[in-house]
Amino acid sequence: MNVLEELVKESERCISCGFCESVCPTYRASGYRAAMGARGGRVIIAREMVREKREKGSVSPGYANSFYSCLDCFACLQVCPAGVNAGRVSELARAVLVEGGGRENRKRVGDMVVRLTMRYRNPIGADFSDEGEGDGDTLLYTGRMYQTMGYSKVLVELRKRLGEKATERNAGIVARMPFLIRLLRQRPDEEVDREMQASVESIKFLLREAGVKFRFLGGSSEPYPGTFLYDLGYYGEFRTYANSVCDEFRKMGIRRIIVTDPHTYDLLLNAYPKFVDRFDFEVTYYLDLLSALEFEQDEEVVFHEPCHFVLHMDYRGGAHIALSKAARVKLPPRSGRNVFCCGGPDELLFPEMAEKVSEERYRELSEAGNGRIITACPICFSNLKKSERVVDISVFLKEKLKVRATVSGP
Ligand code: SF4
Ligand code: SF4
Repeated sequence: MNVLEELVKESERCISCGFCESVCPTYRASGYRAAMGARGGRVIIAREMVREKREKGSVSPGYANSFYSCLDCFACLQVCPAGVNAGRVSELARAVLVEGGGRENRKRVGDMVVRLTMRYRNPIGADFSDEGEGDGDTLLYTGRMYQTMGYSKVLVELRKRLGEKATERNAGIVARMPFLIRLLRQRPDEEVDREMQASVESIKFLLREAGVKFRFLGGSSEPYPGTFLYDLGYYGEFRTYANSVCDEFRKMGIRRIIVTDPHTYDLLLNAYPKFVDRFDFEVTYYLDLLSALEFEQDEEVVFHEPCHFVLHMDYRGGAHIALSKAARVKLPPRSGRNVFCCGGPDELLFPEMAEKVSEERYRELSEAGNGRIITACPICFSNLKKSERVVDISVFLKEKLKVRATVSGP
């Protein structure tokens, strides 16, 4: 089935009841603008776009913001009586816009991210210098998700200062000449970068303590998985890129991949097998490998579940199990199938929207208990980090790990 047909199939079941808008974070954050909501902004506009495409062979300008502002949180699917996923509608609509939506319906920031990823194997063209370690056929794969957060923070601040038009203009220049990004000698936000590096080190530490042997590529040797390419609808580029990543892993003799964040886990389990010619790797999430570890359980915490786990993958495994061994866990009212997004996916293109969503979620998490707020995704961490209370699960678990008694010899 092609993208347009899939879009028709997903959107035509809508009975226009509006239930989806009661849970749509962007509808509320935009001040209830129909164009930014699940029904009016995604499903109805997608139908209109499909009609135009079929009748005229092209689409009018003005569709981009409705689809690019969707957080892909899939909260709408949980309440839709007709089983429509307005998030999936947005994903497919973006692919239609990229393939033939015309220049006015493209985001130059999207073009820039794609060109940088294809050239430098990470979405911001950074030159990473952390070292690799280990060998063997099991790869600890962070996909540079933690390591890019400090750079994203700086880019988001720049986007806020420049405004949308100037950002798009400059992104268009970098998209045409990606080497310019290296001349800027970008530096990450130091605080975010320090915390994210601490997370990566904590993940490695926990795996070693659990007896898991792994190889870590480090620096610019570790490719980004291409999440933005897929999410922004650049399916052709994503296919090429994902195949090149897998070819590289195969040449290294990799058979098993340990992922460290929900976006990469979802992408490798659900998108890679559809786009990669032969996806024959075993994929595991690092928190599912820590069952041998024991933790001190002397603290109460509030847990923000990543929507990619709960709503995309219906998965509540390792993070819940490990955290409940290490703390008394409180969940905010909107959790499980009702979980509310952190706003992170909108950070770069719609920072004001992302800020409003994250403020609402942070308030809810703060009111759910007095303890620290635990996240299990670098994007959630970066977007919700509004106080010292917010801590990545890897850092928390490392802190709570019980010290094993050393046995002294005779
Ligand atoms: S909840 Fe489902 S059927 Fe109702 S308006 Fe939203 S997409 Fe349409
Ligand atoms: S996926 Fe999330 S942001 Fe997008 S339409 Fe559905 S509820 Fe709204």
